[in-house]
Amino acid sequence: MKANGAGLQVNHLRKTFRGGSVVACKDVNLEIEEGELLVMLGPSGCGKTTTLRCIAGLEHPDNDDAIWIHGRNMTRVPPKDRNLAFVFQETAMFPNLSVRRNISFGLDMRKQLPKAEISRRLEEAARMLRIETLLDRRPYELSGGQGQRVALGRAIVTEPNAFLLDEPLAALDAALRVEMRTEIKLIQRKLDTTMIFVTHDQEEALTVGDKIAVMKDGVVQQVDTPHNIYHRPANLFVGTFIGSPPINRFECTLQGSDGELRLVSPILDTHVPPQIAGRLHGASRSITLGIRPEFVQIAPDGGDLAGRVALIELMGSRTLILLDCAGQEVRVLVQGDPTVREGDRVSLALQLERAFYFEESGANLL
Ligand code: ADP
Ligand code: MG
Repeated sequence: MKANGAGLQVNHLRKTFRGGSVVACKDVNLEIEEGELLVMLGPSGCGKTTTLRCIAGLEHPDNDDAIWIHGRNMTRVPPKDRNLAFVFQETAMFPNLSVRRNISFGLDMRKQLPKAEISRRLEEAARMLRIETLLDRRPYELSGGQGQRVALGRAIVTEPNAFLLDEPLAALDAALRVEMRTEIKLIQRKLDTTMIFVTHDQEEALTVGDKIAVMKDGVVQQVDTPHNIYHRPANLFVGTFIGSPPINRFECTLQGSDGELRLVSPILDTHVPPQIAGRLHGASRSITLGIRPEFVQIAPDGGDLAGRVALIELMGSRTLILLDCAGQEVRVLVQGDPTVREGDRVSLALQLERAFYFEESGANLL
């Protein structure tokens, strides 16, 4: 099944409620190529659902040129003429109808398709979603994961230009979420259709997306590959929001000149590697150094800072070591078992060439 893909564009989308006093979408810009799976990621209340609803036509954006599909301005086109499929966290099925009837309901109502075509689409979707044996059940006879599969089935049979999935896995338990997110990605590949997948879960975003758009306060902060979102965050917000355990932050001042630049904080005094010092030229004196726990090492001696092991947490194949460095908590992530014990005094080395250097505005300087 190859749906006619959609080039989707969100252009300076602004959406306010309550006479302009609630700004849900301040200035949202997105471009989704045909066949691409874009994950929209951000904390609760940042405007993800409102953005999706504007794309679907369920909300009226404040500006008249906000939503473009296939190069056409669709901002004021009614939802039914956009051919987009919306899947919500709550599946909202008809309790008295079988799964089969729930899936084909939209087709029976809207499209006046021949019976044979409806059957073909239903069977194909059921096979892809592995729900063939569930078609005669009622919704209450389904598990959470099966229910979400049926919800996807309902979307798939409409052969939409694009799928809009709003936190579709949020109600499922952890193990099932991990399984279903892989499945959704496989289905998207098979269908080769544009998909926007909304989540507030950064781990889910990193695993699912071809690209991730990170949102905050109604504004897209960065659109990039999962790799770049993780390793090259555009600003302090993205750097902090992505990654578990989160980055270590050190409020520092830059001292000295290009040739001999030092990072100084109450617990830290270290040289900036020369290849980075050159690129920090012109930086403000105060910066936030951000460094992921896997890029901090427990050093034999004479590292960049010293601390005491406060807590050790096993995380499967990795271990998280929490250190108390003169009152500041520093997280270190090591492969395998730890070589230190709680209470040990240790020295830490920072891989400064892997660190982030955020200026006072929050922008990443590198
Ligand atoms: P998210 O999906 O990222 O959690 P939403 O798009 O649902 O965020 O909401 C963004 C902001 O807009 C929130 O502050 C929310 O309270 C507000 N909002 C959303 N819909 C409405 C509405 N119909 N009326 C008033 N405020 C709304
Ligand atoms: Mg939402």
